[in-house]
Amino acid sequence: MTGTNVFADDLKLTPYWWDDVPRPALPQTPPPAKADVVVIGSGYTGLAAALQTARGGRHTVVLDAQDAGFGCSTRNGGQISTSVKHGYAALARRFGAQPAFRLVREGQNSLAWVGAFVKDEGIDCDFRISGRFHAAHNPARYEALAQALASQPKGLETAAHMVPRAEQSSELGSDIYYGGIVHEQHASVHPARFHQGMLDRAVQAGVGIIPHCAATAIDRDGVGFRVACAGGSIAARNVVVATNGYTGPLIPWLRRRVIPIGSYIIATEQIPPATMARLMPRGRVVSDTRKVVYYYRPSPDNRRILFGGRVSYKETDPRRSGPPLHAEMARIFPDIRDVRISHSWAGFVAYTFDEMMHLGNRDGLFYAMGYCGSGVGMAGYLGTRIGQQVLGLPEGATGFDNLPFESRPYYWGNPWFLAPSVAWYRWIDRSGH
Ligand SMILES: Cc1cc2nc3c(=O)[nH]c(=O)nc-3n(C[C@H](O)[C@H](O)[C@H](O)COP(=O)(O)OP(=O)(O)OC[C@H]3O[C@@H](n4cnc5c(N)ncnc54)[C@H](O)[C@@H]3O)c2cc1C
Repeated sequence: MTGTNVFADDLKLTPYWWDDVPRPALPQTPPPAKADVVVIGSGYTGLAAALQTARGGRHTVVLDAQDAGFGCSTRNGGQISTSVKHGYAALARRFGAQPAFRLVREGQNSLAWVGAFVKDEGIDCDFRISGRFHAAHNPARYEALAQALASQPKGLETAAHMVPRAEQSSELGSDIYYGGIVHEQHASVHPARFHQGMLDRAVQAGVGIIPHCAATAIDRDGVGFRVACAGGSIAARNVVVATNGYTGPLIPWLRRRVIPIGSYIIATEQIPPATMARLMPRGRVVSDTRKVVYYYRPSPDNRRILFGGRVSYKETDPRRSGPPLHAEMARIFPDIRDVRISHSWAGFVAYTFDEMMHLGNRDGLFYAMGYCGSGVGMAGYLGTRIGQQVLGLPEGATGFDNLPFESRPYYWGNPWFLAPSVAWYRWIDRSGH
């Protein structure tokens, strides 16, 4: 199958997850004249922050330019990792031994946070400690993974084991990889159910959620702020900006620091159970060692594969991204080359120049963002911490506090360097590094 033949007749260009959890029909209330805290953005970051401030007794309002959860938080692959991309050694060279230790530990904390949050709040979202098979795309990468596992820094060890190529079929029904590593604690979740659970808890805590209400300006007003938004303006003591890959011109300082990048994903039509058992026998989430990474997993009911990655140099639309994603999936799993795509969609993640997430407080404006494509655990975790920082609580302190949040000359929010960067990384992926 090639071209648009890969699409099912009833193809949907909305996230697979929305079939099960449609965007919520919230009342379109007018913005209040004042609030203690205004949160901008209703994804995991914004809702987790709002939950903290509302439970801390602050009248909290969350604004979203679109439906609640319109951004990445209901579009993602639902794979939960430790999120921090750089290893301890690279971080130690950059920031010193102790800060590096803390940053790696924060990644582990974010993973642990999701499991504890889902359990404590009783959220029904198919959360499962599935483990991750991280596949080596060449022999050098396999060796590098094995070496990193053998030399885990003391005090930061995680449960993982190598799977050589000869045993790979116990993890994955594919011959294209050179073995890989299993991260035993990585997890999977139904991302929209997870988001809906957070939304329900926030509403129960008294948070006012106002969809279709874009914040258009934030000005200082006495000791607080005035947030102009669709249909009015709100006087607020504190403001939390939680717009991640959807960060627009609202705060130019932040826009210069996050790089919005499209991430593209498909869901297949149903696959026979025997084939699923052969392709993904342990039901793990999967990623590979390429710089331009592909990530995939079974659906929570184990009937489909969700397959994501970056397939174009420039941003494109899900009708165009679907066929090349399908082609890559068919290269990995030739058995399902004739299974068609039922859903194809995309969303904007936020990269940063140092590939680290950032949170902080600039002139009284709080923010948390820049998860570099790995925010399912980290966004809720840092949202929680930034909410605690608004409340002035000591538990809000993180290893990310005071990390320099860099921009680059000639970058104003339009990533003109994206296409050459993707081309460069593709070249590295092909060159055997
Ligand atoms: C296809 C895809 C697959 C992914 N897969 C994974 C994965 O498997 N694992 C993983 O860890 N991460 C994954 N991610 C990334 C992850 O989903 C994000 O890091 C995370 O959801 C970010 O959450 P957030 O709340 O910060 O931002 P978002 O959920 O993107 O929310 C930002 C919100 O801000 C709103 N907004 C913007 N401007 C304004 C304004 N002026 N006024 C009001 N509202 C505004 C937007 O409408 C949006 O709803 C994926 C992302 C995509 C797109």
